[in-house]
Amino acid sequence: MLRRLFTVLAVTGVLAAPLSAQTYPTSWDPSIMERPDVKSALALLEQRFPQQVEEWIRIAEIPGKSKLEQARGAYVKKVFEEEGLQQISVDSIGNVTGVRKGTGGGPTIAIAAHIDIVFGPEASDGKVRRVGDTLFAPGVGDNTASVANMLATLRAMNATKFTSKGDIIFIGTVQEELGLKGMAYWLDHNTAPDLLIVPDGAYGVVSYGALGIYWTKYVFTSPGSHTLGSRGRPTPVRAVAEAINRLYALEFPALPDGAVMNIGQVHGGEIFNSVPQELYFTVDLRSPDPVLLDSLDEQITRITTEVAEKQQVGLRVEIDQKSRAGGTEKQLEGARAHPLVQTAIDINRALGISAGMPGAREAVATGATDANIGVVRKIPSIAIGGSRASGAHQLTEYALASTALPSTKLLYLLTATFADGVKTMPPARIVP
Ligand SMILES: [Zn+2]
Repeated sequence: MLRRLFTVLAVTGVLAAPLSAQTYPTSWDPSIMERPDVKSALALLEQRFPQQVEEWIRIAEIPGKSKLEQARGAYVKKVFEEEGLQQISVDSIGNVTGVRKGTGGGPTIAIAAHIDIVFGPEASDGKVRRVGDTLFAPGVGDNTASVANMLATLRAMNATKFTSKGDIIFIGTVQEELGLKGMAYWLDHNTAPDLLIVPDGAYGVVSYGALGIYWTKYVFTSPGSHTLGSRGRPTPVRAVAEAINRLYALEFPALPDGAVMNIGQVHGGEIFNSVPQELYFTVDLRSPDPVLLDSLDEQITRITTEVAEKQQVGLRVEIDQKSRAGGTEKQLEGARAHPLVQTAIDINRALGISAGMPGAREAVATGATDANIGVVRKIPSIAIGGSRASGAHQLTEYALASTALPSTKLLYLLTATFADGVKTMPPARIVP
């Protein structure tokens, strides 16, 4: 597990040679923690944390498979109503929105936590198993922890009469696991916020980039035939075999700045004694580099088309997801320089939140969360982990409950820091 995690972090750029000493503008002013309302909010989050964990478990036990998030949406909506948010709505894809109005003249901050999870109720008993500080359940880390963190942040703001100049928009997004579809819909149908904060992703790492993700299905077709008449006849099986072979022969640079391609599914054929009429495989292609991503995508389409022609079979290309890439680290230097990123790093340091791996980067120019949608639209956007968790997208997923408290404080302090405007403090020096 650790070695696998090391590999994942190394590939996603978290473990890489530290950048040469570079200073970035920050808005973090530690003295904010002495501000009476902020001080009492942080104390309240600590005091109420046992209830927050109970709520986390309650939400984790509400079915929330992507596209079937309605019950979780209703729960979040109820809390938004109880907490007096305005303009509460559930849009036609199921995103739940509520606005905590500011006094005016400040940046609009959107906090978006996805409420969907990968697994449906059929996959487990739907119960959270608690062993000491560890919570076991599918989706408990990704992303139910962050939903509970978002609601606890809202309650702490209200209980301490927190005021902001800017509006704070709370969003429970849907279909994140199906390609960030809820967030894309939300930004297509609402005014873009000035800042987007997404509780999701790796604990202790600030993600300010967007890994482009293309999911495509290549379906090869033929009239089919019985085995007895199959000799020398076109078959989608040979086409699939040849196409896959040629795709794996493609050469391209590796992540973090290059790309990764995975053929995750091959399906088709019902019986022994016939040439199947349809056979398909799926490609999961990812890169932060929009140019590389599109050129690889084009090469794959060209290769599959050539193979289909050569093998005299039909081809249907079905796009399941095309989440755009936000740019390589070099291309995202502007985004890295926005104080939202350094401020999150500084608050992580102040709260003692870290990825817990020697050499792990505090900020990465990649990400596969709802923040991606903000990044590619040039909205200052970051993703911040909701808890230290492991086994995301697996039935064995677990999260360390106690780590959600500092994550919630991070979310609260980030919002409090920017609520009245994006001001920058004297640059913080990064010690390599
Ligand atoms: Zn997630």
